[in-house]
Amino acid sequence: MAVLSLEHIQKIYPNGFEAVKNFNLQIEEKEFVVLLGPSGCGKSTVLRMIAGLETISSGELKIDGQIMNNVDTKDREIAMIFKNAVLYPNMTVYDNLASGLRLCRLSKKEIDSRVRETAKFLELEDILDQKPEKLSEGQKQSVIRGRAIVRNSKIYLMDEALSNLEDNIKSQMYEEIQKIHEKQGDTILYVTENQAEAMALGDRIVVMKDGVIKQIGSPTELKENPANRFVAGYLFDMEFYDVKCVREGGNICIKTGTNTFPLSEKQAEKLKDYGGQTIYMGIRQSDLKKSTEKSGKKNNIAEIVFDISKVYLFDKDTEETLVLPED
Ligand code: ATP
Repeated sequence: MAVLSLEHIQKIYPNGFEAVKNFNLQIEEKEFVVLLGPSGCGKSTVLRMIAGLETISSGELKIDGQIMNNVDTKDREIAMIFKNAVLYPNMTVYDNLASGLRLCRLSKKEIDSRVRETAKFLELEDILDQKPEKLSEGQKQSVIRGRAIVRNSKIYLMDEALSNLEDNIKSQMYEEIQKIHEKQGDTILYVTENQAEAMALGDRIVVMKDGVIKQIGSPTELKENPANRFVAGYLFDMEFYDVKCVREGGNICIKTGTNTFPLSEKQAEKLKDYGGQTIYMGIRQSDLKKSTEKSGKKNNIAEIVFDISKVYLFDKDTEETLVLPED
């Protein structure tokens, strides 16, 4: 049974804006899933609905098979780490770690044991009686993570938890998050706009745009088989061109301006119903050479040079992928 299940989830804000549309996702126990997409695509809204900080307009949210739509945040057994999270400045590291547990009215002994266990796991034992002002940025981030870990939740929601950090602290935090995941075997849903971060951390990545899931897959599946123009363009720095699919001398070719490129048998087979139609061609920047010199006799046109075996082709209306490189 999926530990976290979102079925046909929709979010309409009070001003009428539909931020999340028919969102379907099953997350298995111990999975590390990343929600990836540009700013405003609805990632935080999804996370906040799971945490109970935002109402769900329609659809069902289940944790371990139980419908959770109307269950109070504190009863969802979820720990959330927000971007820009801060520590209580006047409290020691120990008290920062213990504060959430005190609200849950656990015994002093239970709180002490959980705080010390978490501090040991995150190597914070030596700084338990220090205040945040004395800590390095990396230590502060570890304490922020510690406040979530100490709750022993099954599910962790992390909202761009690393976005504001320097690169060297970020890589230290990647390791720490992976350590939490491997050692504790927790289920993690992690939100980011950063493609490299998603690829490095996720067992599966959910790519979102405008409140809609554009593709769900492992990093390898997404890289090797992007389902549509958006995913390909978002994962790989790509340039897109309108090209025409034409039949010449019995062969299917693509035409850009005055140039015609014959396609491989496999590429042509996939485009057999596209004769005469305009489609999108995508080329990774790294596979593209541009000449800015004068080209031709009359026009000052930038010429692009590419290898036809490295192009992606997409349906112009649905934007679905038709042809992948090496097809
Ligand atoms: P970011 O990381 O920039 O926040 P995001 O993908 O997490 O991006 P959300 O914060 O989920 O996006 O916002 C999704 C959309 O919903 C955005 O267009 C945002 O402006 C809109 N939105 C968010 N909160 C509200 C609200 N309370 N009322 C109306 N619209 C909202």
